[in-house]
Amino acid sequence: MAQQSSFLSTSVKYLKGVGPVKEQHLKQELGIHTYEDLLYYFPFRYIDRTHFYPINSLNSEMPAVLIKGRISKVQLLGERHKQRLSVVLCDDTACVELLWFKGVKWIMQRLNQGAIYTAFGKPTLYANKFTISHPELEIYNPNEEFNDALRFQAVYHTTEKLKKVNIDTKALSRMIIGFLPNIRQRIPETLSTPLRSKYSLLSLEEALYKIHAPKSEEDIRQARYRLKFEELFFMQLRLLYFRQQRVRACSAVVFSTVGDSFNTFYKHYLPFELTNAQKRVVKEIRRDMGSGYQMNRLLQGDVGSGKTLVALLAMLLAVDNNCQACIMAPTEILAAQHLEAIQSFLKDMPVRVALLTGSTTKKEREHLHSHLRSGELQLLIGTHALIEDEVKFKRLGLVVIDEQHRFGVEQRAKLWRKAERPPHILVMTATPIPRTLSMSLYGDLDYSVIDELPPGRKPVRTLHKYDKDRFDLFAFMRQQIREGRQIYVVYPLIEESEKLDLKDLQDGYDDITRAFPLPEYQVSVVHGRMKAADKALEMQRFVEGKTHIMVATTVIEVGVNVPNASVMIIENAERFGLSQLHQLRGRVGRGAKQSYCILMSSYKLSQEAKIRLQTMVESTDGFKIAEVDMKLRGPGDIQGTRQSGVLDLKIADIVKDDSIMRHARIEAQNYLNLSEEEQQEGEHRAITMALHKYLLRHKDWSQIS
Ligand code: ADP
Ligand code: MG
Repeated sequence: MAQQSSFLSTSVKYLKGVGPVKEQHLKQELGIHTYEDLLYYFPFRYIDRTHFYPINSLNSEMPAVLIKGRISKVQLLGERHKQRLSVVLCDDTACVELLWFKGVKWIMQRLNQGAIYTAFGKPTLYANKFTISHPELEIYNPNEEFNDALRFQAVYHTTEKLKKVNIDTKALSRMIIGFLPNIRQRIPETLSTPLRSKYSLLSLEEALYKIHAPKSEEDIRQARYRLKFEELFFMQLRLLYFRQQRVRACSAVVFSTVGDSFNTFYKHYLPFELTNAQKRVVKEIRRDMGSGYQMNRLLQGDVGSGKTLVALLAMLLAVDNNCQACIMAPTEILAAQHLEAIQSFLKDMPVRVALLTGSTTKKEREHLHSHLRSGELQLLIGTHALIEDEVKFKRLGLVVIDEQHRFGVEQRAKLWRKAERPPHILVMTATPIPRTLSMSLYGDLDYSVIDELPPGRKPVRTLHKYDKDRFDLFAFMRQQIREGRQIYVVYPLIEESEKLDLKDLQDGYDDITRAFPLPEYQVSVVHGRMKAADKALEMQRFVEGKTHIMVATTVIEVGVNVPNASVMIIENAERFGLSQLHQLRGRVGRGAKQSYCILMSSYKLSQEAKIRLQTMVESTDGFKIAEVDMKLRGPGDIQGTRQSGVLDLKIADIVKDDSIMRHARIEAQNYLNLSEEEQQEGEHRAITMALHKYLLRHKDWSQIS
């Protein structure tokens, strides 16, 4: 064992041809220190060197292709600083121009006019001719063609700096292939035999060998599959392991009774029947909070799915068990709305609720603090103000966090510390993210979803319109206002073009005030540059129904509830992301009347923008929209992914490999369900050893909540 690990931890400087300079560069550029690092530096594709495309078959639809031919012309073109190298390569069928804009001299000096070359790159059509920019060019070696071992050439990412010290993809490949034979018998297996046979997985050693030196397409497929499985399995195992540790470490308050508050409310004051999804989630929460373990649950539910009520029921359980509960919302307006909703739900119930925000006066504050400490005050609703040190509870049992991504981990930790025993935690979010992503982002939290809207809700009708339709749009707006409805008009606000955006908003506002003149019509305006107090005032006027139209930048994105607003007009809709569009649309459709979302855009739309707008028109399902969003943008742009580390995967892709991920998670859970003795025994020992190695490597992953 010791010998195995010492081989893998050997510094790359002991490799043939790697001196101090290269060693330094490998470290700095690719983070490769040891043989093991190099072994886990996987190729991102392969070139099948037995397959050449005839040059006359090239077209610009093709991905990168391999061609073979002789050089017929070499030319340096352009001025000194914009020099480019043009090499014309011809086979029996046609010629193609190869172009370089960088490293021109270096390449030119090495060209051998008489030789046959192979070139690999993506053909593009330029001025009616095919060219390939920066192809991988090398002298053709006919003997290689028949050597099976060399048929697939692994291609590795390198950097300009590495190329300068002669570490290109081929050099990397040579280094790795050079020591590959030595790994035999030295790679400890990390998965159990039953698991390997269930999923037909290669041994780790075999997979590592084949990923770098495959002999067939099948080798590549199998090696990738095993390594992806490995990566996702240990990722999930780590997350689930943390959860298990936390659950074991934190014995929480047990909410054993379902008492008067919950029952009275449920029987007498519940204004409507819960949806099935709400019932299911309440059950899950009850089970968690009664288990003796600390609940850490993520509740996802689209806008309007009724999360507040679920939170309230959970809070009443806390009250029934002599505990206090709080809700933390991201803005004052939202906190105030929660208070309002909860107070109206609780009407005549003897439950004491209060609001604490930045605007709470000193006097009110002192009063509130003392009632919290004495335990008289049972439910507290507020903003960040809740986490200040002076806010002390007598017995805090449940913390509900609305729209969690607006709170940092640090802030959440502060809330934790407000109770002797860790309170139960319910994190609510209306930003749906695809299940696979949440499995990695929040993989150590339990997960509930409300996937059903209350009955009788009319889905918002969404239309895509252009500038030419503005006349009709105004007529439609007038008609809605005549029927007593209110309207949002939203403009994008993107920091880089803030000035322009504000001008758009100002112009739009002017147009609207012209078309909707006083005194018949009242128009509010809210944008990010306004003072907070002015903003709040304008919002309030709209909330109270005193204004007909609210012209705003995206500041209203999160949460305001104006059931009477039935039209959401989004200007320059092509500039919004899908999740933002969906959030904005969620502002309407809250009342009984048919609501509308009108996406205004210019005619010129990118392909992506077209898909976004089309998706909005076709679907109101937040999860479906989130899937499309992730496919369009990749998971990297979805809130929270960058910081979380879930994207630091070497080979797996959390979007494309979601089916592997699901299996891996199930298997990881199966392993954790084994007793500790079983985990140390025969088959499973491999996993146990590997897990501990991974845990050491990723200490910083620790808890999320
Ligand atoms: P969100 O999930 O966006 O926070 P809310 O909790 O604000 O949604 O609920 C939206 C609206 O739906 C509220 O007016 C709420 O009273 C109402 N509502 C919640 N649950 C139900 C239900 N089961 N049946 C009918 N209306 C409901
Ligand atoms: Mg809400």
